[in-house]
Amino acid sequence: MLTNRSKAVDRHPMTVWEKMYLPAIAKGMSITLSHFFKKKPTINFPEETRPFSPVFRGLHILNRDEEGRENCTACGLCAVACPAEAITMEAAERKEGEEHLYREEKYAAKYEINMLRCIFCGLCEEACPKDAIYLSETFAPSNYKREGFIYGKNDLLIPDPKKEPELYQKAVGERARKK
Ligand code: SF4
Ligand code: SF4
Repeated sequence: MLTNRSKAVDRHPMTVWEKMYLPAIAKGMSITLSHFFKKKPTINFPEETRPFSPVFRGLHILNRDEEGRENCTACGLCAVACPAEAITMEAAERKEGEEHLYREEKYAAKYEINMLRCIFCGLCEEACPKDAIYLSETFAPSNYKREGFIYGKNDLLIPDPKKEPELYQKAVGERARKK
């Protein structure tokens, strides 16, 4: 016996009262009615959302600095650290006149994460030496097509803090602001 919750089954013949099933029906109805007065466990998503755990790891964000320049230098450390091989990228050299777009001489011309592979472990965030990627407090929405789960650079880049400060703050989220 694994637990002490087992119950011996009483196999005595049913009485006339029991054969009417009325007590059993009344008992069942009383259980059902008692649930009307209990707090509803369901929530009206998406209008209502559950509070996430402080350590929740959601959708990735590619970060910019305070001047709106992309932090990522396409060093590839996040891709190497990723146990699911979900990250791919192509590096490019920054040209003259692009200093306002990219913080360093090298940047990710292409950066993709396959959310169907990703296990949201956060190792890419841990590996990044440039504070260029972190896992936010939102999650990848559902999609009918596999291609919809391949997130490109445009899907991942945080809004420019200079051009869209409100969207930037929203994307940064409470947890990252407290860091
Ligand atoms: S969270 Fe983990 S699995 Fe997902 S991309 Fe980052 S390292 Fe890979
Ligand atoms: S996100 Fe970070 S670790 Fe990944 S390529 Fe860019 S700078 Fe390197």
